[in-house]
Amino acid sequence: MNPSRKLETMCIHSGYTPKKGEPLAMPIIQSTTFKYDTTQEMGDLFDLKAEGYFYTRLQNPTNDQVAAKIADLEGGVAGILTSSGQAANFYAIFNICEAGEHVVAASTIYGGTFNLLGVTLKKLGIDCTFVDTDASQEEIEACIRPNTKAILAETIANPALVILDIEKFARAAHAHQIPLIVDNTFATPINCRPFEWGADIVTHSTTKYMDGHGLQVGGAIVDSGNFDWEAAGKYPGLTTPDESYHGITYTKQFGKKAYITKATSQLMRDLGSIPSPMNCFLLNIGLETLPLRVRAHCHNADVVAHYLNDHEKVTHVCYAGLESDPYHALAQKYLPNGTCGVISFEVAGGREGAVRFMDSLQLASIATHVASSRTMVLHPASHTHRQMNDEQLLAAGVSPGMIRLSIGIENVEDIIADLEQALQKA
Ligand SMILES: *Cc1c(COP(=O)(O)O)cnc(C)c1O
Repeated sequence: MNPSRKLETMCIHSGYTPKKGEPLAMPIIQSTTFKYDTTQEMGDLFDLKAEGYFYTRLQNPTNDQVAAKIADLEGGVAGILTSSGQAANFYAIFNICEAGEHVVAASTIYGGTFNLLGVTLKKLGIDCTFVDTDASQEEIEACIRPNTKAILAETIANPALVILDIEKFARAAHAHQIPLIVDNTFATPINCRPFEWGADIVTHSTTKYMDGHGLQVGGAIVDSGNFDWEAAGKYPGLTTPDESYHGITYTKQFGKKAYITKATSQLMRDLGSIPSPMNCFLLNIGLETLPLRVRAHCHNADVVAHYLNDHEKVTHVCYAGLESDPYHALAQKYLPNGTCGVISFEVAGGREGAVRFMDSLQLASIATHVASSRTMVLHPASHTHRQMNDEQLLAAGVSPGMIRLSIGIENVEDIIADLEQALQKA
């Protein structure tokens, strides 16, 4: 919109600019459809000849305004909202990759995305190779095949908290004329804007910090507009006529917005994972305070991580803000203002100690969620990974005493007081 504006200003003003007499707060257009006066007017919309709204599964003003705000924050040319982060990552890949083709993904990606790529996309005929996030550029390139259509990785992996060397992955992808898709959920554009480091497409689970209050499940995809689909010569879905859409060629008609237009007019049309306008409205309220909240989460995480690191009942803390963390240098480079509010640590008493600690917490909630205003904890060995025995857990890189802590924006002294009394009982 106005690229010279700072992030804090975009969080308030991007996407919706009221004119005289219009609501100052972005309205919720909670309507499935929109009225026209002539047959021709409606026909032009179906042909994508005119811009306008006709059915909310394809486009809705509230959704589009919030998507535009997120696109501005990331410095992209266009964005689309989806009903979940899962749908965002699915669309981001399926928009340029079909049966018989292949993607490469960082091995530390979120479990839901790991399953999507490793199991569900496989059933649709799309193969995935997982590569170690710390692999060299040569090792990443060795995973790329002639039919590879994208590489996917997370800026800060959930929950492994591995920091991505974005430039290394971008170089590997671009050497083979394929785009790098970065899931920027944990960093948010406040702490890192992957397009500035060579990523081509960014995805989000807006369920996390962007919403920030645990109110709605949602996702977003933003295109930088930088990837040259025509020059790459291997994306016929974008560069040749779409017979399911009146023979439109997306790159010819929509230029830098080709990728997002295709995701809207083809994938959203056929798969329909739209968020409700009400949820987009709630997300927008979260976005207004995103910079304030991200700073508060990062400050609290830093204080808590150092406190835990010095605690005699804690054997290990995983947080890239600590100088001893193996990802500290990458965090300094890509996330100089802070990483995120999620850390993990290991209590000395193993599985039993972790359970005693969890059950003693009074302020922090046990919840399957991260990255929102309240402090929340999860014990992977008892929850997300509960089907595994101790040996299997260690093989998966999860120790029985490991706790995932999502630090909220309460006063950090209260958070530490709660952790301290619970650690005494661990
Ligand atoms: C939570 C999460 C997802 C999935 O998002 P949902 O909104 O839960 O569908 C994807 N990627 C990352 C990094 C996440 O943290």
